[in-house]
Amino acid sequence: MSHLETTQNTMMSTSQNSSSNKKEINQKECTFLIIGGGIAGVSCAETINFLLPGEKIILLTESSLIKSVTNLVQLGKFSQRFDIQEVVSKEFEKPNIEVITDELSTIKSKSKEATTKGGLKIIYNLMCICTGSRPKLVNFADNVSSYILGIRDTDSVKEFQKRIKTSKRFGLIGNGGIASEIIYEIGNIEIEWIIKDQHISSTFIDQGAAKFFESRLKNKNTSDKMIVKRMRYVEERETSENLKRGAALGPDWHRLLDMKGNMSSSSENIKVHYNSEVKSISLCTDNNFPVCIELTNDEKVFCDFVVSATGVEPYKTFSFLDEAIKLGEDGSIFVDDLMRTSIDSIYAAGDVCYAGWEHSEYWHQMRLWTQARQMGMMAGKSMAAKFNNEEIYQDFCFELFSHVTKLYGYQVVLLGRYNGQGLDDDYELLFRITPDKEYIKFVLKNGRLVGALLIGETGLEETCENLILNKIDLTPFGDDILDPNIDIEDYFD
Ligand SMILES: Cc1cc2nc3c(=O)[nH]c(=O)nc-3n(C[C@H](O)[C@H](O)[C@H](O)COP(=O)(O)OP(=O)(O)OC[C@H]3O[C@@H](n4cnc5c(N)ncnc54)[C@H](O)[C@@H]3O)c2cc1C
Repeated sequence: MSHLETTQNTMMSTSQNSSSNKKEINQKECTFLIIGGGIAGVSCAETINFLLPGEKIILLTESSLIKSVTNLVQLGKFSQRFDIQEVVSKEFEKPNIEVITDELSTIKSKSKEATTKGGLKIIYNLMCICTGSRPKLVNFADNVSSYILGIRDTDSVKEFQKRIKTSKRFGLIGNGGIASEIIYEIGNIEIEWIIKDQHISSTFIDQGAAKFFESRLKNKNTSDKMIVKRMRYVEERETSENLKRGAALGPDWHRLLDMKGNMSSSSENIKVHYNSEVKSISLCTDNNFPVCIELTNDEKVFCDFVVSATGVEPYKTFSFLDEAIKLGEDGSIFVDDLMRTSIDSIYAAGDVCYAGWEHSEYWHQMRLWTQARQMGMMAGKSMAAKFNNEEIYQDFCFELFSHVTKLYGYQVVLLGRYNGQGLDDDYELLFRITPDKEYIKFVLKNGRLVGALLIGETGLEETCENLILNKIDLTPFGDDILDPNIDIEDYFD
């Protein structure tokens, strides 16, 4: 007798008395249970639904808004640009997909039962954990916590919006995508930007590209801000930070929002503190501002509040599980190439997992929207194959790291080892820079392209992908490879 049959029989026999009636109402069954309504969870559910449209899927998520990918533009075979849409979870439901807004409480992996904080029991066949990561906050004393804001989900952005309206100056800590977007998008307020590197936006770009962006930062033109036309929903829920964790933000998080402070544009000022880290954050009484950030170079920065945009860190405890699960070296859930965890019938995808397989030469893990989507889809394919007892292989998207984002109003495409990652300085760089238009960087090792950074509408995405994966020897072309008068696509397409 199958596991599901056992459950059904149990339900039939227990439905005879009133106490078990309650149990019946509080129990659901599904073939696929997915935990988390972020990009990974939703992509996983969509993929399974596409491959096995008749099978019951339950998506369990704390937040009543879920994220789905929209406006997908294919720039190459690997590179894709997309927006993220927030959808009321009920709208995502289909005859075989049920969305439950509740928090996962326990998983009994042997009997394949999950319970929720709301008292629901879910019997599943295969499960995927897509519970994301949490913002990495800087260290600070307890009494300043109300002045520190971690930008992570829609709620935190709304709080941020509220605070810039009533403040003169805020401190921004971090040098990744969100910090860069804040700097570019926010106006009419003073910003003290604290970055630990020698140049801005170091997560994605090199020093040269940072220079390329500098003029853009000085002459911010947010009039090109494209408002994404889509429905907005108000989520009714408790506001306490720890009660409910919404999905992490999507690529266009600022586009629908008025991100201006209440000061005049002439008083807008960005001061960048390079090579600086935060030593402490404390309350200050002898200044016009309530908060003081002390930096490692002993400089002091005074402000109304602090935004910590220092990226994410994976959750490291999975106390909802009743047996030990293998973890990766960063403490997140270890998965193999088919997104399987060490526990039978449990998969994981997105920020919550550690890519434990042997990576291709040109791929590395980064907790990004793109990879959350790719991993979610891979988990979906893998779970469907397991259900059908079929053999599958890892998707080709894991052959080449590719991420498309927007920085300072420009499209930015990152391919392979775009920053010379893991090459031990044993590589060559070639550039083509047209101020205010494009910035192209090729990373070459032994004459072969191993990574590229493409800023602007270069149209070179697919060509670069081909050059990298086909390992074409570019030595005969020398520096001409990036000569603007030569159309390199003609050579290699
Ligand atoms: C501050 C910040 C900046 C970022 N900047 C960038 C960037 O510039 N570029 C980029 O590409 N990516 C960026 N990211 C990363 C990107 O947002 C994530 O990689 C991506 O959203 C991860 O998707 P996910 O589905 O794995 O997790 P999430 O989107 O975090 O979704 C997790 C889901 O799980 C649910 N959940 C959690 N615990 C439970 C539970 N116990 N029970 C039920 N449901 C639960 C949550 O409600 C949520 O729906 C940033 C992230 C953050 C936080």
